[in-house]
Parts: sequence; C-alpha cells; structure tokens
Amino acid sequence: MANYTWSYSALSEYTKCPKKYYELKVAKNYVFQDTPQTIYGKEVHKALEDYVRDKIELAKNYERFKDVVDELIKIPGDKYCEYEMALTRDKTPCAFDADNRWVRGIVDLLIVDGDTAFIIDYKTGSNRYPDPKQLRLMALMTYAHFPQVIKIKAGLLFLMKNSFLPEEYHRSGIEASWKQFEQPLARLDNSYDTNTWIANPSPLCKYCPVKDCEFHKE
Ligand code: SF4
Repeated sequence: MANYTWSYSALSEYTKCPKKYYELKVAKNYVFQDTPQTIYGKEVHKALEDYVRDKIELAKNYERFKDVVDELIKIPGDKYCEYEMALTRDKTPCAFDADNRWVRGIVDLLIVDGDTAFIIDYKTGSNRYPDPKQLRLMALMTYAHFPQVIKIKAGLLFLMKNSFLPEEYHRSGIEASWKQFEQPLARLDNSYDTNTWIANPSPLCKYCPVKDCEFHKE
C-alpha cells in the first residue's frame, strides 16, 4: 500500500482534481503561490495565536476580532493554540513528524476541559460554502490524542462575518465518522498504487497553477 501523508485540505484537493493534487503534492512540478487572501489569513491566525496563548495585544487592524476571541478565552479548560496532531495508519497517535505518520492536522484553538473539548477553526474567507467536515477529522484526532475526551463542541468561526457554524461530536460516533473518509481515501490509495491521476476540469481551472494542463485557461 502506498506510503503517504494526508491532511483534510490535501484530501479535499485530491477530490476536486486528482491531477492537480499529483502535480503539486506528488511530482511537485508546481508550487502553491500565496495570494493576498492567503497571506492575510496566515497573518490573522498568527495574531490570534499570539493573543490567546501569550496575551500579545492585537494590532489595530485586528482589534475587530477581540470580542469574539475573548469569549473563547473565557471557556474553561487547557488551551492549545495551533495544536499539531498526527495518527499512524492504524489510527494511533504519533508525533507530527513521525516517519510512520499517516494523517495530520493543526487545530487553530483546542480547549480541553475534562471529558469535553472545544475545537475552533478560524476562517478569514467567505461563509457561503462552509465545509465542516474538516472539524470531524480534527475531532477524530482529538479523541485519539486525548483519551479522556467524550464530547466535542466544534465550530468554524468566520471572523469577517462574525458568524459561527457549530458541530457536535460524541466518542460513540468515532467509527461512523471514519467511514465518511473511507471512500475518498480508497480512491487516493488507488491513485498512488496505480499512479493514476485523472484531471477533473471545472470553472476553477482558470485559477489552477498547473499551466501545462490541457484544461487550463488563462
Ligand atoms: S487545470 Fe483544471 S483539470 Fe487541469 S490540473 Fe488544474 S484543476 Fe485539474
């Protein structure tokens, strides 16, 4: 079986276009180019990490996020900012950089309070097409890394819209949650095993960095 590391965003990229995934992550023929939006997103994540973990005051242009983040800080429990987790293929916790890692993820803000955990994912983009499935994967990794956790409250926090998309999970749902990833992972395994990476053209092709793809449009 192919040996690779996946994350939610990598699996999502693969699902949208296996060829693009191959060109960027396997062959590495192209590199992802940051955009003003992705640079802004990284800067906001860093500012909130510094504010929550080290109480470093928010810069003027990020003060608009203070009230909502202060509400998160009030939640009781141990707080972990930009918390890195990884699992081996048998879903055992391992170090983020372990040679036998299989899946990895970073939680923007994880709060663990006894048998309850809170997972917050900061979003600086639009809330028009929210994708809460990434929270499910983070919850699965949290259950593995924190065996005492039974209930998880999670949410996508759309900072620019001041909106919150909540999700709830229970340890009893672990098996059912993993099942939701089985099909795309089986396809990804098959692509690695057979070295087959099919192009999936879409209106997004015009933003794709794979300029020599036959479906690329300027
Ligand atoms: S141009 Fe379109 S079809 Fe080609 S790799 Fe990029 S996303 Fe896939």
